[in-house]
Amino acid sequence: MAKPLLLVHGGAGDLPEASRPLHAAGCLEAAEAGGAVLEAGGSVVDAVCAGVVVLENNPIYNAGVGCALTRSGRVSLDSAVMDGKSRNAAGLAALDAFPNPVLIAQRMMQEQEVLLVGQPASEWAERHGFRRVPEDELTTEAARIQWHKVVDEGADPNFAGGTVGCVARDADGNLAAATSTGGTMGKKPGRVGDSPLIGVGTYADDVCALSATGHGEAFMRAVFAARVADAVRYGENPDKALRRMLERTRDFFGGFGGAILVTAESDPHYFWTTVGMSHAWWSPNGTGSGI
Ligand code: ASP
Repeated sequence: MAKPLLLVHGGAGDLPEASRPLHAAGCLEAAEAGGAVLEAGGSVVDAVCAGVVVLENNPIYNAGVGCALTRSGRVSLDSAVMDGKSRNAAGLAALDAFPNPVLIAQRMMQEQEVLLVGQPASEWAERHGFRRVPEDELTTEAARIQWHKVVDEGADPNFAGGTVGCVARDADGNLAAATSTGGTMGKKPGRVGDSPLIGVGTYADDVCALSATGHGEAFMRAVFAARVADAVRYGENPDKALRRMLERTRDFFGGFGGAILVTAESDPHYFWTTVGMSHAWWSPNGTGSGI
């Protein structure tokens, strides 16, 4: 029997001191929600999706409610889920305003396609019972202010309060990963980041599960998650592999960020090259959080 474990992140970045406790508390709530699914004997995919749903519904993170907006002020969401045992995976990118994109990705796992994008993705979601909402329902005052700063005043998009993700292991050692994001504030309409791309921002197999956050373009050029997973598969220590690839993504591909990783047997692994990354963990022995 493996020891169940679930980790969440609420985005890598430089959070203002004052909002750090709130971000840590939000992560803890999500970790507990995912952990409750594992405790009740639910699947590891259900558990990671439950963790992400809590973060998507929390307006302080850049996913679902409170998401980042495109240059034209629109909602455009990216999300993906992967099941390590079956290696089944699904993602949606440049999706319209839907409250919980991760649940759409989970439903998409029943299809043979791995990635749907843009209008056809939104239409597919509607046809499968998901409710498109007015963009205002996902747009917070804080996001509008930040959007204005980035688009009108040329401020750095910054990753603070960003993307959300969850990885988990159940008692049988099965692994899963899920990630959800509004992307980068002021992004070009149609831009897709690393989060919904399997093997880049989200990945799970029988050895490890990962969810990343940070400069999506650098993570894509680095082919981030698959490289870490293979390094672990072929014997590198998970902490070392995570750190090496995040430093390489920074130094060789020019992007900062962080990631959470769980293996079939080890303790939680996380690392970031940004100032911080809000995160939390759940295990049957207890919970914890940090920034
Ligand atoms: N990785 C995300 C993206 O590039 C952003 C983030 O993690 O904050 O879309």
